Amino acid sequence: MQTLPADDQLVEQARAIHERVLTVDTHIDFAPADLTGERNYTQRLETQFNLPNMIDGGLDALFFSIYVGQTREAQNPDALKPAAYERAYKIASDKFDAVRRFTSEIAADKIELALNAADVRRINAQGKKAALMGVENGYPLGEEIARVKEFYDRGARYLSLTHNGHNQLADSHTGERDGWKWQGVSPLGAQVIAELNRWGIMVDVSHASKQAMMQTAALSRAPIIASHSALRALCDISRNMDNEQLLALKKTGGVIQVVAYDSFVKCGKPDSPERKAALAVARRDFNLPEPTGPGQRARHQFALKALPLDKRREYDKKLAEIDRQYPGDAPATLKDFVDHIDHAVKLLGIDHVGISSDFDGGGGVIGWNDASETLNVTIELVRRGYTEAQIEKLWGGNLLRVLDEVQRVAQDLQK
Ligand SMILES: [Zn+2]
Repeated sequence: MQTLPADDQLVEQARAIHERVLTVDTHIDFAPADLTGERNYTQRLETQFNLPNMIDGGLDALFFSIYVGQTREAQNPDALKPAAYERAYKIASDKFDAVRRFTSEIAADKIELALNAADVRRINAQGKKAALMGVENGYPLGEEIARVKEFYDRGARYLSLTHNGHNQLADSHTGERDGWKWQGVSPLGAQVIAELNRWGIMVDVSHASKQAMMQTAALSRAPIIASHSALRALCDISRNMDNEQLLALKKTGGVIQVVAYDSFVKCGKPDSPERKAALAVARRDFNLPEPTGPGQRARHQFALKALPLDKRREYDKKLAEIDRQYPGDAPATLKDFVDHIDHAVKLLGIDHVGISSDFDGGGGVIGWNDASETLNVTIELVRRGYTEAQIEKLWGGNLLRVLDEVQRVAQDLQK
């Protein structure tokens, strides 16, 4: 057995590696106001991601998620009609514009929009942060294939076929509970995949159903990605991917960006009603926000950090009391998260695995709960014996290789 260096040595070693390798997080959510408002991401807002946190954590590049939610057909029979598509398109449009403005005006001295892997490396070498864009949900495309090229021109470098709920392109993983609409990818979805291949946008299968994902792997002429998913082998929920899916993804030459999302990483038992009620009372007494919904985890942590020390001690005491009275399952930690990376690497090899947080979209685990804690991931990888070359691949080398390959395939297809 290999003997590992002492802890402080290990941290120093990890810090040096972390500084040398390019680190890319493929999924971070945002609200346009946080990029373009008076208070924006140049400041340390109460969000998991912002530029000060990114700089503190040594994160070099990120994909801003051009996320568009959707009303489901079951709730709204007009969900897949032109007027709803137009509303979705408007939301996506505003997000594209916000990232453009942030990177070209508001924070142009610190962060720059990257359109390919070479851009990411050049921007990084110039000492700036690199921003890319991924569209989370093909819903805003509506039924207009031409919008794929438009999104490409606006900067999109991956597009997730679905979010939660089936759309016009494919079935979502939520069909395991709700039933199926297409039995995989729709005819329009197959056309969109070809169009994504043609322009050089990575096809993202996170949130898609297993059938849709497997069909996408077969249809795509370029490698595909899962921009933010975890492993079903370790936490058996529909949002995660099973081994058969991962092997199909590998066959395309693609990559799974393992996501640090508490409830995907660790399938814990839900809190009992008594525990829930006791926690809610404690939160109210200490003026802390409800810990649900996008970004709330960070806001909770932010509020905790802001408590005066005596209040904080009082709150911790109260929590310990609740834990004794109504024990709950411990939340997911960095170790639980890296277990998923380990498992994926054992199954697929080092060339098909990467890293994502889903910060401000519900992501975060104890130990990597905002962008300022990004070094902790590298420390845990070093602790587990990963070499610098392997860590470089996990932290972005693989993803950038796939982006290069997808753009090379596009050039061939355009000929
Ligand atoms: Zn998502």
